[in-house]
Amino acid sequence: MREVRHNVGMHRANFLFRLRRHAVMFPLALLPFALGGGCSPGSADNSTGVVTSPVASPSASAPTASVPGPAFNATRAFADLEKQVAFGTRVPGTEGHAKTRDWLLEELNKTAGNAKRQDFTYKVPGGPTLSMSNIVARFNPEAKTQILLCAHWDTRPTADQEIEPDKQNKPIPGANDGASGVAVLLELARKFAAQKPNVGVQIVLFDGEDYGPTGDNMYLGAKHYAKNPAFPKPDYAILLDMIGDRELSFQREAYSDMQAPEINDKVWDAAEALGRKEFLSGVGRQITDDHIPLQEAGIKAIDLIDFDYAPWHTLDDTPDKCSPASLKAIGDVVAKVVYEEK
Ligand SMILES: [Zn+2]
Repeated sequence: MREVRHNVGMHRANFLFRLRRHAVMFPLALLPFALGGGCSPGSADNSTGVVTSPVASPSASAPTASVPGPAFNATRAFADLEKQVAFGTRVPGTEGHAKTRDWLLEELNKTAGNAKRQDFTYKVPGGPTLSMSNIVARFNPEAKTQILLCAHWDTRPTADQEIEPDKQNKPIPGANDGASGVAVLLELARKFAAQKPNVGVQIVLFDGEDYGPTGDNMYLGAKHYAKNPAFPKPDYAILLDMIGDRELSFQREAYSDMQAPEINDKVWDAAEALGRKEFLSGVGRQITDDHIPLQEAGIKAIDLIDFDYAPWHTLDDTPDKCSPASLKAIGDVVAKVVYEEK
């Protein structure tokens, strides 16, 4: 995923340099709302004026609500994060990519029982033809209300936020950027298998989100899915990306809040009821991610993402930067939304 501005992290200077460089190449077609709100791809130094404050402090708001269904097993979810990283890089065309794809299919078949590969190819202009697979599975296909939950499972081939040039061409481990969202969805699938929600749940794991290096070669699985949906159009979609940071805290993503504020409301209401301090009030940055192709296909789609992650697109994006507690925070909130949906 990519964003319009960035103001934290150890790679700030490097990032801003790259941001300006990329700004010219930023795919405007993927920025349906970027130019109207005074925050354009070139506005790296503008302040958004966003006020950040917690929804509630843990002491002020002890959790009063509970999460339906069996407990989210944070230890198991974290083991799934580690397992993905242990497969190695999940760049299309690599051995780690193929092994991870097969394992995801197997894991989702243990719960949903109907997991499928959605294979497609993409010719990189001036580069290789990539073979990729979205992995899809669903619960309660017959239910009237359908919710799509998604994350990307591939990893970036280039650690382009590294300062040292000799590291920039290496693939990232992708513990947070890739594995975290998938780990939460695999564990949620176990919950849904153990206790069926009232609504239908469509799980889609996107390939090719992070190929890059620029936006025209990114979000490839989501773009393919938007044009070739495996399932009927859902009532809304929730994307999980970079939600494993052990210092998790984030605001509503700006494009999500422009297109589907009511879905953000559902999520933040659930977070508040659970006393989850990771969900901050206010609207944050504009981040182009897999939710944009879904939005462009007419699906209400939000992105839950914590972009304040110093190891972003570096070789330091490893499991020790993530935590089981963060996976559980997201898993519990999303589960509450799903189980309480009619
Ligand atoms: Zn990324």
